[in-house]
Amino acid sequence: MATLYLLETRAAKNYKCSGCDEIIPRGTMHFRHDPHPMARLHRGEKYTHWCRKCVMATNPRPKEQVTRRLFVRRENIQRTDYQLSLFDVVRIELVGIGCNLSERLSGNPKLIHSLSPDEFEDFICNRLHAMGFEPRQIGSTFQADGGVDVIFWPRGSSSFPFLGAAQIKHHQNPKRREGPGTVRDFWGSISGRPFSAGIIVTNTSFSPSAEWFARQQNGLIRLRGFEDICRWLENNFSSEAEWREIPSTIELAPGMLVKIR
Ligand SMILES: [Zn+2]
Repeated sequence: MATLYLLETRAAKNYKCSGCDEIIPRGTMHFRHDPHPMARLHRGEKYTHWCRKCVMATNPRPKEQVTRRLFVRRENIQRTDYQLSLFDVVRIELVGIGCNLSERLSGNPKLIHSLSPDEFEDFICNRLHAMGFEPRQIGSTFQADGGVDVIFWPRGSSSFPFLGAAQIKHHQNPKRREGPGTVRDFWGSISGRPFSAGIIVTNTSFSPSAEWFARQQNGLIRLRGFEDICRWLENNFSSEAEWREIPSTIELAPGMLVKIR
């Protein structure tokens, strides 16, 4: 358990802080680490609870603002002394302000181009979250991430779990298109790994040959650009356009055509 994904929440009962062993009284704000569902199933990894003092002492970056999760290295908690400044305590209250990014952008989607790459990634995670996924940003943790910036899976108790991989490309210049190289590299990273869906999101668009390459992968890779993001900003996730990689007819056996839509 090297990385903690901490959700700030009220303690449902008395917990013992996994960092300092102090009691976290029921009803007080604290942080809960939610292990990945698979880690919970296979390795029996448990939810753990952390007091504010321990977490704030690591001076966490307000990273996963979308899911309101803080991203803290486990070992940082043990190494710190517990000198807290008022600044740290105040700063944590601000976590979550990034959720307003989507609201701000919906008035003027073109502002997307002026975001920083990190802000754009936060924003896309916010939209994935709105679609019902649990997004997890991984780019800053692993250098050799093979072009996967975010992993996501259906949130809640889905009866059909799967893992998705996303690569998020931000360009300042709205005219810059993603070419086939990006798609080919991404495909190389996710094929042969346990991903059932891959998505490349850019704030611009894709070249025709990039679109062509993606189409050859039988729907494993979806490309989403500025126009798609504009729909997502309006919380419209069920547009016909989301189905464009899914054929209207499938040939299951020679001559046996099944019409899907
Ligand atoms: Zn503690």
